[in-house]
Amino acid sequence: MTKSSETETMRLEIESRSHNEEFARVVAAVFMSRLDPTLEEVDDVKTAVSEAVTNSVIHGYRGGPGTIYIEASVRGKELTVSVTDCGVGIQDVARAMEPMYTTDCTGERSGMGFAFMEALMDQVQVRSQPGRGTVVTMKKLIGG
Ligand code: ATP
Ligand code: MG
Repeated sequence: MTKSSETETMRLEIESRSHNEEFARVVAAVFMSRLDPTLEEVDDVKTAVSEAVTNSVIHGYRGGPGTIYIEASVRGKELTVSVTDCGVGIQDVARAMEPMYTTDCTGERSGMGFAFMEALMDQVQVRSQPGRGTVVTMKKLIGG
């Protein structure tokens, strides 16, 4: 038996392709099932992971090849998920996180990805270095 104070961690590496996003969502959902989450909590985490992975595919690697690293861990009732890419990075993180800010000029994106992640998770932290990549770390307390 593992003590509830111990941290359990899972790491996943996926190729940067839109269709791999579903894989990341499902793995995150299965991993968090050990915390006995509600369906709403599972949906929240799946959506947040999906937004972060989509950002890595579209913005980080600009649709080109690359690897996305997903790490999930639980400590007590707290779930932490991080999504990392080694893509173009973000010049101004505070600005990028503003609702409706997007660098997309096709009109396809609404600039709401980070706003969704912040609404669905308890905490979202973005660390990025231009030319090096981006790490999005999200935390959520499951089951109160
Ligand atoms: P939406 O998510 O609504 O489809 P969006 O992706 O443009 O639109 P956000 O997810 O909020 O909106 O991201 C805001 C901006 O931050 C993006 O337009 C992009 O410029 C930048 N960004 C986000 N994630 C990354 C990343 N992993 N690498 C590089 N730039 C990023
Ligand atoms: Mg987005």
